[in-house]
Amino acid sequence: MKRIIIVLAVFALLFSCKQDQTNQIQTQKAKNIILMIGDGMGVSQLYAAMSVSEKPLHMEKFKVVGLQKTYSASDYITDSGAAGTAIATGVKTNNQSISVDTAGNAVKTILEYAEEYKLATGLVSTSSILHATPASFIAHELHRNNYENIARDFLDVDIDLFIGGGRKHFVQREDGLNLLDSLRQRKYNIVNGIENLNTRNDGKYAVFTAEGHNPEILNGRGDMLPQSTQKAIEILKKNDTGFFLMVEGSQIDWAGHDNDIDYVITETIDFDNAVAKALEFAKADGETLLIVTSDHETGGLTIVEGNMETRTIETHFSTEHHTSNMVPVFAYGPGAEEFGGIYENTDIFEKMMKAFGFEKKVFSGHNQADN
Ligand code: MG
Ligand code: ZN
Repeated sequence: MKRIIIVLAVFALLFSCKQDQTNQIQTQKAKNIILMIGDGMGVSQLYAAMSVSEKPLHMEKFKVVGLQKTYSASDYITDSGAAGTAIATGVKTNNQSISVDTAGNAVKTILEYAEEYKLATGLVSTSSILHATPASFIAHELHRNNYENIARDFLDVDIDLFIGGGRKHFVQREDGLNLLDSLRQRKYNIVNGIENLNTRNDGKYAVFTAEGHNPEILNGRGDMLPQSTQKAIEILKKNDTGFFLMVEGSQIDWAGHDNDIDYVITETIDFDNAVAKALEFAKADGETLLIVTSDHETGGLTIVEGNMETRTIETHFSTEHHTSNMVPVFAYGPGAEEFGGIYENTDIFEKMMKAFGFEKKVFSGHNQADN
């Protein structure tokens, strides 16, 4: 009997130690968060790239892996507007919507919270920076295609840096406004081309890499995304209170819509090269939570045959649209352990808020959807 009691006591002691440890891990806060979204990147896109790549992908290095459910408020199959909104705000909304709820009310994004908490903020994308995914972090619009309004929304948030295409939406406008002038007045360095970005300048940065969307890797984009990721980190890390950065590999989705496997693989590997830059920083920094995920799968990609010696695969697409497949989540750094398991896309917002230690507040901003 005595022995049993001792054994139980030891167990209880071990258990309480373990709990303490868990609590300790849970209270560890992230100073910085880098959120990376491979638009349209499901497990098949990732495995296709892993299968043909001569060396392992950087995404294979993560120890914490989860899966997220992507359905939206209006549809079993989400679009990038509703999916971006879910990740950016924690609210499931209608397809096509950009950080407004199903009633059309603006909902606050993690980037807007970060601004409020005096963190530096940034967006990087291989599409136009006004496209649905990056827009979800800064704009509030009923329809994702309202590019003129989305460009104006960029002026309502004190974002420190953005890098991507879409310059024309700031200058060639139906309302005749020149928003580059407005950005200049707000102390932005307006830069054309990532190669012209001097990270030592003071002030904020608006970096345009294309008039519309950036070209595809197969069409000469080069290392724009990994380079932009690295330069964005260099700039944002100057802020002593920390930063939030969202980086999007936009075109994995377009490759899926095109049912073009070479396009899928080259864009996924490019995204992975950007992940390498962020992971390298997060490892050296120690206070950065890095999350790598997707917003939905595109193309219903299946790998039907392959050979690990010749590193070749045979693939089949089942649709030219998005699918409902769960998509992967990888995490590294303080708060990473929260990202294991299966959960809703909206939980990513909650987990980021927790990692930052932010408290939720009712939206009181000026930035209401104005259409
Ligand atoms: Mg996108
Ligand atoms: Zn798409």
